[in-house]
Amino acid sequence: MGLMTAYHASAFARKITIIERKSIGHVLSSTAGETRSIRNDYLDPFYTRLAAESRRLWDEMQRTTRRKLIVNCGCLNIASRAITPDLTTTYAALAHKNMSALGLACTEFDTVGLHSTYPQFKADYASLDHYAGMTALPAIRATLLAHARAQNIEILENTEVTNITEGENGVHVETPGQTFTARKLALTPGRWINELLPALTGIGAYRLPLTMVKPDWAYFVAPVGREHMYDSDHLPVFAYLDVGAYGHPVYVGYTPGVKVGFYHPADFDPVTSKIQRPEDFIKACLPGFKKVQRIEKRDLEGCSYDMVQDDQFILGPLPGYRHIVLGSGWRGTGFKFAPLAGKIIAQLALQGGTIYDIRPFDPARFVRS
Ligand SMILES: Cc1cc2nc3c(=O)[nH]c(=O)nc-3n(C[C@H](O)[C@H](O)[C@H](O)COP(=O)(O)OP(=O)(O)OC[C@H]3O[C@@H](n4cnc5c(N)ncnc54)[C@H](O)[C@@H]3O)c2cc1C
Repeated sequence: MGLMTAYHASAFARKITIIERKSIGHVLSSTAGETRSIRNDYLDPFYTRLAAESRRLWDEMQRTTRRKLIVNCGCLNIASRAITPDLTTTYAALAHKNMSALGLACTEFDTVGLHSTYPQFKADYASLDHYAGMTALPAIRATLLAHARAQNIEILENTEVTNITEGENGVHVETPGQTFTARKLALTPGRWINELLPALTGIGAYRLPLTMVKPDWAYFVAPVGREHMYDSDHLPVFAYLDVGAYGHPVYVGYTPGVKVGFYHPADFDPVTSKIQRPEDFIKACLPGFKKVQRIEKRDLEGCSYDMVQDDQFILGPLPGYRHIVLGSGWRGTGFKFAPLAGKIIAQLALQGGTIYDIRPFDPARFVRS
């Protein structure tokens, strides 16, 4: 979010400095890893509209930078009668209804249609979100860093912000070795926001209602001899959000297998089922996996979802401050929104407002006095 803010802010600001406590994309940050889902299949039309707009900005960025940042393999939401007998009330069916109403390209499949199009799955209903897929994290990081270099944006790694004070005309940002004076500050410290807020002089005991959730996810060895069926040319991103499962195809050259993990959308109650681990999902819905073999990737274990008490992002001016804009609480679903969030933060900081309706995200909603 910090790099993306700098990307958008560079059109309006002469001097930008990014301060990172560790290194960009380090293994404990939420931005670690190789892929993230990019999809429009929310149940709330507001988030679907935002996701579609953010996707438009990703495409704009791909055109401007001439880099491939999105793997456009689509996103397939599935449902199985054995697990969710009423298919019409499944996440897949409801999301399809929402996307269709908003005019987004999506296709429904029944058991037979799904089997002939995507024989990798065992399910009775599916909806394909066409304008979806996964973000290519290594390419995105490289593109944003190249842009920062080209724009003379200063990036200070291994530098921790320890104190922030606001004056009449801007902010003073302290690190152990240096104090920076800036006209505006974009605060995007991810799940560490509540550690950083006390560093703001005068804010007292202000805390944001965030809960960290460490998801269970892993890569799995694709069925031997049929590996091609599980790469991103043949398999879309997939999800069965009634049971909280999602997955990514193999991103050849970058990921070692099919990714399967857990994510419970904030606005949907999961059903009680036997699917408790990625392995259970594979056994129930990906019959081609005769053997389910996890590829351990322990270096990404620190990554967490930052869930917000009222299930809305936290994005807007920091209450009580005139020169600080906050972006946090991305609920484990923030990456796809990064260009939009970066653009909004840059507009708020440098243009005094934004063209987007972000009232539900106002950080002030958590401040009583
Ligand atoms: C396992 C997993 C899967 C996910 N899957 C998806 C998905 O499929 N699709 C999707 O859209 N989203 C997904 N997300 C969510 C998405 O990745 C995050 O919302 C997004 O990466 C958040 O970025 P960020 O910049 O806010 O946080 P981060 O990447 O964590 O960056 C915050 C940075 O601030 C630095 N920092 C903190 N405090 C200080 C300080 N005092 N001084 C200096 N620096 C500081 C940290 O070191 C860190 O590098 C997933 C998240 C996880 C964990």
